[in-house]
Amino acid sequence: MATKRDYYEILSIERTVTEVEIKAAYRKAALKHHPDRNPGDQAAELMFKEASEAYEILSHPEKRAAYDRYGHAGVQGQGFQDAGDIFSSFGNIFEEFFGFSGGAQGGGRGRVRRGADLRYDLTLEFEEAVFGIDRELEFERACECAECNGSRAEPGGKSTCKTCGGVGQVRRSQGFFAIQTACPTCRGEGEQITKPCKSCHGKGVKMERKKLSVKIPPGVDTGLRLRVGGEGESGGAQGQPGDLYVVLHVKESKIFERDDNDLVLTRPIGIAQASLGSRLTIPTLEGDKTIEVPAGVQHGHRITLAGAGVPHLKGIGRGDLHVQLELVVPKKLSKEQRELLEKFAEISGEDAHAGGGGFFHKIFGD
Ligand SMILES: [Zn+2]
Ligand SMILES: [Zn+2]
Repeated sequence: MATKRDYYEILSIERTVTEVEIKAAYRKAALKHHPDRNPGDQAAELMFKEASEAYEILSHPEKRAAYDRYGHAGVQGQGFQDAGDIFSSFGNIFEEFFGFSGGAQGGGRGRVRRGADLRYDLTLEFEEAVFGIDRELEFERACECAECNGSRAEPGGKSTCKTCGGVGQVRRSQGFFAIQTACPTCRGEGEQITKPCKSCHGKGVKMERKKLSVKIPPGVDTGLRLRVGGEGESGGAQGQPGDLYVVLHVKESKIFERDDNDLVLTRPIGIAQASLGSRLTIPTLEGDKTIEVPAGVQHGHRITLAGAGVPHLKGIGRGDLHVQLELVVPKKLSKEQRELLEKFAEISGEDAHAGGGGFFHKIFGD
């Protein structure tokens, strides 16, 4: 059996913390490692499950006492046994942390709720970002239970709340004042559930696996967020769904360096090519192209191909492609090459270490 991590350690809390602090620590961990926010990340899923198990034990005073006294052995079989357990208990987490309570947070009746926004991290190849692409996303999200339409009860399984008589509010006297608060029995709903929906265990929401095709426009870059309206989590029976945010991560190109909408391509060029001028075949986004290098170009010279860069995300047109020339001086010369360069130096009046016995010859050899 694998060793289990200490529950307090999992939630990064001291053993002396209060229930409120446990809940806060769990909320933080659950939001961070939530599977919807970390699609496909197994480490995050594991941490989410660990945190849920830790919370399940530490949030119950008796279980916590048993754990404090006997460790994991004291609470064996009382935590979650598998993922199914976690998700059947998951409704509670939604209600408390993700705003899915259908009125349970004391807002009174008829208040329009909005489902949580979701984040989906999408990694794109360089070319996919440049040219745009249709991508199918697959993720889990909470949706309204189809059996009870989010009402959380079986048909006829609700009755008027006895405490507030269906108003959803109660008046309490406090000194000279009478204050009105959400009814503690029905939590503001005015109705009580007598028969909870069997399908969703009275949560009103269930997890669903959603497939969605999104159009990535040409010219996107890392850090851009695409909003897909209404594809977040359900807002319950009368609420509005949240939005889905697709956060883009674009891989670097092995060929080009991207500078906003411009591309930079570094190409080595020999001293003879640079001096005499030449033709270079270079890769572009549209395949290989031949460019003319004028005679006498210097190191760092840029040849710009206008409009051969990345499309502008907003508006029309494209950036440029800059071919940056990098002058390469040969490190080693053949006998013939050296003789010719010595001759070149002589004609040009350059003081080269001619004769082959100079300093450079000693270092680089033949
Ligand atoms: Zn249901
Ligand atoms: Zn009530």
